[in-house]
Amino acid sequence: MLGDKRSFTISVTDYRTLRYPVQKERPIDISFSPEDLAFQKKVRTFIDQHVPQGMAMWTQRGDWFKALADQGGWDIPKWPKDFGGPNFTPTQRYIFDLEMGKQATPPQLPFGVGMLAPILMNYGSQAQQDRFLPGIRDGSVNWCQGYSEPGAGSDLANLKTKAELSADGSHYLVNGQKIWTTLAQIAHWIFCLTRTNNDGAKQEGITFLLIPMDDPGVEVRPIITLGGSHSVNEVYFTDVKVPVENRVGEEGKGWTYAKGLLAHERSGLAGIQNSVMGLEKAKRNAQKIRVGTGTLLDLSSFKNKVGVLEAELLALEFTEMRTLARVAAGGDPGPESAILKLKGTEIQQRITELNLEAAGVFAAPWGAEAFGPEFAHGAAQSYLGGRATTIYGGASEVQKDVIAKNVLGLS
Ligand SMILES: Cc1cc2nc3c(=O)[nH]c(=O)nc-3n(C[C@H](O)[C@H](O)[C@H](O)COP(=O)(O)OP(=O)(O)OC[C@H]3O[C@@H](n4cnc5c(N)ncnc54)[C@H](O)[C@@H]3O)c2cc1C
Repeated sequence: MLGDKRSFTISVTDYRTLRYPVQKERPIDISFSPEDLAFQKKVRTFIDQHVPQGMAMWTQRGDWFKALADQGGWDIPKWPKDFGGPNFTPTQRYIFDLEMGKQATPPQLPFGVGMLAPILMNYGSQAQQDRFLPGIRDGSVNWCQGYSEPGAGSDLANLKTKAELSADGSHYLVNGQKIWTTLAQIAHWIFCLTRTNNDGAKQEGITFLLIPMDDPGVEVRPIITLGGSHSVNEVYFTDVKVPVENRVGEEGKGWTYAKGLLAHERSGLAGIQNSVMGLEKAKRNAQKIRVGTGTLLDLSSFKNKVGVLEAELLALEFTEMRTLARVAAGGDPGPESAILKLKGTEIQQRITELNLEAAGVFAAPWGAEAFGPEFAHGAAQSYLGGRATTIYGGASEVQKDVIAKNVLGLS
C-alpha cells in the first residue's frame, strides 16, 4: 500500500518542472528496493532486445508475445499464478507497466486477456477454462464484448436480447441486438449478456453466454465514428442456437459475473502509462511551436494546463498502485476502479486537447490531406476519437455515481 509507505518510498524530487519545460526524467522519483531496481533493469533489457519497431510492431506481434511468454507469464501479467501468470508483486507490476508504457510496446486486445479471462477463471467450468484460455492467451482467438444494446448502456440491466432454453435443455435460442461492439468485425467469438427471465428485478434473469461469430444467425453491421474509424459495430442475433456448454456459470447469474468484469475493465481503461508518455510528447510538440521569442510551452496559459495534468497524473498513479496492491492480495479492483476510469480517461482527452492546441490549423486535415508539422497529422482525429473514452466502459456521470455511493459513502 502506498499510504503506509512500506512498499514505496515516494520523494518528490524536483516538481518545479515548469522552469525546465522538458525533463529527461519524470518529475517524481519513486525509489525502489535493490531487488526492484534489478527487476526494472531486467525488463528494460528484455524490451531493448525484443520489442519490434515500426511496422514490425504489427507484423511481428506474435514473436513479441511469445518472447514475453517465455519469460514466465510476462504476456499475461495480470493473470494469477495458477493460470500461468508471473506472480508479480505490486511494485513489479507497476515497474512492468511503466517500462512497457514508456516504450509503447505492442498492446494486446483487452477483450479476451483482460475481460473474459478473469470471468472464466472465477466462474467458468474446468472444460471452459481448458477450451478457451489457451486461445485467449496466445491471441489466436479474438473476442468481443456483447453487453450494450439500444436502450441498455448505462442502464445495462435493461438489456433485452432474449435467450430461450430449448425444451430438452440442450441449447439456448438467441434473438436480439447488441450495439457499439468494438472489433466485432474481427472477432471469432462474442461474450454476451442475454435475458433468460423477465420475472423479478431487472438484474435477475441475465445469463452469460459465449457465442461463435461465424454462426449464420450472427450479423455484424459497421458503425463509422466521429474520428472516421471503423472500430464499433451493431451485432444482430437471429435464431442463434447456443449449446448450454457455452453458458458461463449459472443461468440468471450473469449480472453478478458481469459486475466483477466491469471493475477489471475500468481499471484497465485508465491508460496511465500511455498518458505519461503522451504528456511528455505533447510537451515536446509544444516546444516546436514558436510563440513570440519563446515556444508554446513557455506560455503560462499552456504551461498551467501541463502542470495541472502532471499533478493529476501523479495522483492517479498512486490510486492505481493501491488498486494493484488489492488485486495482488487476491481481491477485486473494488469501487476505486471507477476513479481510475473517470480520471484516467479525462486525462487522456485533455492530452489530445493539448496536441490539438499545439497543432493549430494543421490539426484539421488528416490522412492523405495532412500537411504541416508531423505531430499535427491526425491531431483532430485523435481528439475526436478520444471523445468516446469517457463514454465506453461506463460513462463519466455513472462513474461519479459509483464513487459517490461506494467510495465516499454518500447515499
Ligand atoms: C467507442 C465505443 C466503444 C464501445 N465498445 C463497447 C463494447 O465493445 N461492448 C459493449 O457492450 N459496449 C460498448 N460500448 C458501449 C458503452 O459501454 C456505452 O456507450 C456506455 O455504457 C453508455 O451507454 P449509452 O451509449 O447507451 O448512453 P446512455 O446510457 O444512454 O447515456 C447517455 C448520457 O446520459 C448519461 N447518464 C445515463 N445514466 C445516468 C445516470 N444514472 N446519472 C447521470 N447521468 C446518466 C450518460 O452519462 C450519458 O452522458 C462502447 C461505446 C463506445 C462509444
